[in-house]
This record gives sequence, structure tokens and C-alpha cells, in this order.
Amino acid sequence: MPTPSTVSALTIAGSDSGGGAGIQADLKTFAAHRVHGLSAIAALTAQHTRGVTAVHVPPLAFLRAQIHACFDDFDIAAVKLGMLANAQVIHAVADALETSRPAHIVLDPVMVATSGAKLLEDDALDALRTRLLPLASIVTPNIPEAELLLGHPIAGAAAAESALAEFVDDLGARAVLLKGGHLPGDGPGDTLVIDRYWDGECVAQYGHDRLDVDAHGTGCTLASAITARLCRGHALPEACELATGYVHRALRGGYRPGRGDVLVLDHF
Ligand code: PLP
Repeated sequence: MPTPSTVSALTIAGSDSGGGAGIQADLKTFAAHRVHGLSAIAALTAQHTRGVTAVHVPPLAFLRAQIHACFDDFDIAAVKLGMLANAQVIHAVADALETSRPAHIVLDPVMVATSGAKLLEDDALDALRTRLLPLASIVTPNIPEAELLLGHPIAGAAAAESALAEFVDDLGARAVLLKGGHLPGDGPGDTLVIDRYWDGECVAQYGHDRLDVDAHGTGCTLASAITARLCRGHALPEACELATGYVHRALRGGYRPGRGDVLVLDHF
């Protein structure tokens, strides 16, 4: 067990009342890495293991107050961005980060929950692309999110490889981790999920056995685990490798706390 980190990680994201995703998953992940976790809640969801029943976006002034309270007092090494709900929230977060300039920003471009609930308004895509992508140290889309950000389908492994270059060359991302879970056909007999990393210089692939489960909060957990590893001084490719392994282990130990057939990750 490592000693507690003296620096903090901040998550700016949505709350999941069901405890499986969002801020709740982020803080559990930070704690499991022994990193002090701070949170600025950009949206609240009423949610359980069967879906999202309501969304509330707090006033922007209150979001700004949370972010400023965190930066005013703590040594924040890295920031994780999750559900940001709409374009106004994205602009407020981008403004705050342009002022505070944390060393690392991990952007999980949350758009739609596994249950199908919409977590980002359609007209916010452009703000995500133009304000947050260039600020982020790394963006961690799954295939549907990457398709929306790039504006075209990604049909297989070869298309995923070229999507990596598009994120860096065309959208100005500094690094990308493209999650392969939605891609069929990686590895012999479709038994491997491959997450692909590219930062303009270093290319990497992280492969894990495909687990045949419907899980909740994997994207949030992956981005938070990368954030925690950056806080602990790891370089990005290594942070991504360790974080993909962490999610895989948390999935293997997953459990079903509600009546829905979705798995919640075991962080400890
Ligand atoms: N709810 C909130 C508040 C989230 O931030 C996220 C994260 O992506 C989700 C739900 C979606 O989680 P999942 O798609 O893993 O169910």
C-alpha cells in the first residue's frame, strides 16, 4: 500500500446517486490509489442501476465557486473532466482551467450513459471539441464518442488506428486513449479488448480479455485512474497502461448492488 499522496486530484463531473459512475466512481478510484480527491459537481443525476431518471445542472456561479475553493487551498496535480451536461458548463470549466493551468487534465468526453441516457446536450459537441480538447493532456473517448467528435464512423481496427492520428493532427489533442470495447473483432475470436494510445510520438496498445458483462462507470473509473497515476508521478503511457489494468481488475471483482443487471466496479 503506497503512502498517501501529498498532492490532490480534482474531478469536475456529474454525480451518480446510484454510486456506480461519475463523481462517486472518481472519488473511490482516487482513494484506491491513495490520492486525495476533490470534487466540483457540474451536474447531478438521479440514477440507479436501471437508468437515469432526472438531471439537474447547478447554477454556473456555484460550479465556479466549487472549482475556485479547490484551487484556492489545495496543491492540485491533475484534473479529471467527466459529465459536463451542456455548452455553458463547458465554457465555464474551460475558463477556470485556463486561469488555474493544472499540470495535467484528463478529459473523458462523456456523452451518453450505457443505459442510453443523454449526459451531454447535442449542441455542446462543438464547445467540447474547440475549448476542452486543446486544453486536455489526454482525451479518453470510447468508439461512439470518437465517432461523434471526428464526425465519421470507425468500423474496425484499421479505422481506429487512423482515428488516433486524426485526434492529434486534426483536432489538436495532445494525446488520445481510444477505448476499444465497442469494436468487434479485436484479437482472435473477439476475445481481446484493445485500448489504443497515441501522443504524436509514442504509440501503445493495451489489451485485456473481453469480459462478457454489462458494467457501469468503467469510463469514469479509467479516466480517474489515469488522473491518479499522473498525480503519483507516472508518465502518460504508463499511467494509461496501469489504469486499463486497474479497470480490468475492478470489473473482474464487480458486483450488482441494485435490481438492474449492471455491474458496479470493485475499487478495493
Ligand atoms: N452518470 C454519470 C454522472 C456519469 O458521469 C457517467 C459517466 O460516464 C455515467 C452516468 C455513465 O456511466 P456508464 O456509461 O458507465 O453507465
